[in-house]
Amino acid sequence: MTKPCIFCEIAAGRMNAEIVHEDEHVVAFRDIHPQAPVHVLIIPRKHISSMLEIAPEDAELLGHMHLTARKLARDLGIAEGGYRSIFNCGTDAGQTVWHIHLHLMGGRSMGWPPWPGN
Ligand code: 5GP
Ligand code: ZN
Repeated sequence: MTKPCIFCEIAAGRMNAEIVHEDEHVVAFRDIHPQAPVHVLIIPRKHISSMLEIAPEDAELLGHMHLTARKLARDLGIAEGGYRSIFNCGTDAGQTVWHIHLHLMGGRSMGWPPWPGN
């Protein structure tokens, strides 16, 4: 049997996560290993394994994910200071969970470009 996708499990409420937002299309929860004072993952309820797999019909969903990041940045107090919203796509980019997720990070100053350590 193939292993269930952990982010599908979280979206379905079968696995614990500290959820900060959910609606019909997306779920947002705190990253288990936060890399910034605020580090939230925004996922679609629909399983899409990587950003290489998005299709034209997902455009509205992806827009909704970014609008959710903007709302949460305000709600969680990082809108003024600034935040990063990132999709890691593929192994070289550091993708480890194969269900797309938008990282929303803020609450500290971050380096650029994102060499190791930043
Ligand atoms: P990626 O490396 O794929 O861009 O990001 C995956 C993220 O998911 C990592 O930051 C990792 O800490 C987080 N993560 C992995 N497993 C879990 C989990 O079971 N629960 C939560 N809340 N975060 C997880
Ligand atoms: Zn999934």
